[in-house]
Amino acid sequence: MEQNRTYTKDILNKEGSEVTLMGWVDVRRDHGKLLFIDLRDRTGTAQVLFMSKDAELYAKANTLRPEWVIQVTGIIGKRPDGMKNTETITGDWELQATELIILSEAKTPPIPLDSDGRDIEEEMRLKYRYLDLRRQRMTRNIRLRHKATTLVREFLNNQDFIEIETPLLTKTSPEGARDFLVPSRKYPGNFFALPQSPQQYKQLLMIAGFERYYQIARALRDEDPRGDRQYEHTQIDIEMSFVNEQDVRAIAEEMMIHVVEGCGKKVLQKPFPVFTHEEAMKKFGADKFDLRTEKDPDTLAFAWVVDFPLFDKDEETGHITFAHNPFSAPKPEHVEKLFAREDLEHLCAQQYDLVCNGYELASGGVRISDPMIQRKVFEIMGLTPEETEERFGHLIDAYSYGAPPHAGIAPGLDRLVMILAKETGIAEVIAFPKTGQARDPMMNTPSPASKKQLDELGIEIKKTP
Ligand code: ASP
Repeated sequence: MEQNRTYTKDILNKEGSEVTLMGWVDVRRDHGKLLFIDLRDRTGTAQVLFMSKDAELYAKANTLRPEWVIQVTGIIGKRPDGMKNTETITGDWELQATELIILSEAKTPPIPLDSDGRDIEEEMRLKYRYLDLRRQRMTRNIRLRHKATTLVREFLNNQDFIEIETPLLTKTSPEGARDFLVPSRKYPGNFFALPQSPQQYKQLLMIAGFERYYQIARALRDEDPRGDRQYEHTQIDIEMSFVNEQDVRAIAEEMMIHVVEGCGKKVLQKPFPVFTHEEAMKKFGADKFDLRTEKDPDTLAFAWVVDFPLFDKDEETGHITFAHNPFSAPKPEHVEKLFAREDLEHLCAQQYDLVCNGYELASGGVRISDPMIQRKVFEIMGLTPEETEERFGHLIDAYSYGAPPHAGIAPGLDRLVMILAKETGIAEVIAFPKTGQARDPMMNTPSPASKKQLDELGIEIKKTP
């Protein structure tokens, strides 16, 4: 089938030849004795002409409706002047059909596909996502995502990074959100956690000696979805050994420029300006901000925010917790104060954020690689030595088998593509996102489990009153 197929984008090189196109009916236009179909495939659209003088073919073509899947054979001809369409690259040509095969009929789509889709209810768009993705805007976004991901891989591979997959069924790795838990059938009453990030694994891979790791990794956090947040997001997860903060920032910066310029967009300022957390808070009143003076949508304004506080204090409870994640190293000059538990709120971490056009695009840090410092941080956060052992013993133990200094970063792929695509929500650049109500109306999840499944897991559902 494929062998004999011509893509719509290629008809401009085929004048006078017989070709076969395959795809969807995008639009049909009746002009009395002439019937025009715009046929859509993954490369674009092409005009197909059916003439009434071939009565049988014309009658068959007359049954065609939008979104039917067809195979049409015919001769490529130049359109008469005045009938040319300057808006598409194939607009000077058309296929004069001689044969039509209907591969699949289609019901009328429950949502319009010829608009940008922004005014359609989210529930309907996601229930019929496979149709919603046919709209040009969505097709472009998903292809742009692929392009950005390819540029990321290309850049990191050239810099001698290797991509390593890490488990989805794991133990909780705190990134400040709620975990998704997965009950274990073999060990009733016990749970895996889906990773909030591959943080601990990437650090363990540094201890294993890989030195330069990356992964286009899914991170799962049970937080209420909103514009720039979903239950699942994708990180460009990076970790490096024998490096300091500046080294990681330099790599991430070069990577961002490679991706943005590779996607045909501009970077406002190179090198990226750097603000301390304190400066950012004073100047912008927030740790993420937009440096563009005009809202030029094709420009990305990056900036680094550095010297984040090591700890956050809950104003109500006075409880001290980590500001980024509990593995960020304090600044070397603050280690003494950490051990003395002095001035905890003003201790700085070797942690950095990358902001872009008002969004937090990446966070990263130099990691603690000294077991004593790591234990101290957990102690200050209120964990007993037993709790530390139970939850993080594996990591602390690993530090004692020759841990290189290491640091990393994890830019959010969805947010990056969202900005590149000039979208305002990450759901527009994810093939199958959840709704704002945290559901998937297409698969109809979440949904109840069967009694048998629950019995196997030793789980009983408490009836909510
Ligand atoms: N694991 C961190 C995060 O998800 C990123 C990092 O520090 O590399 O934000």
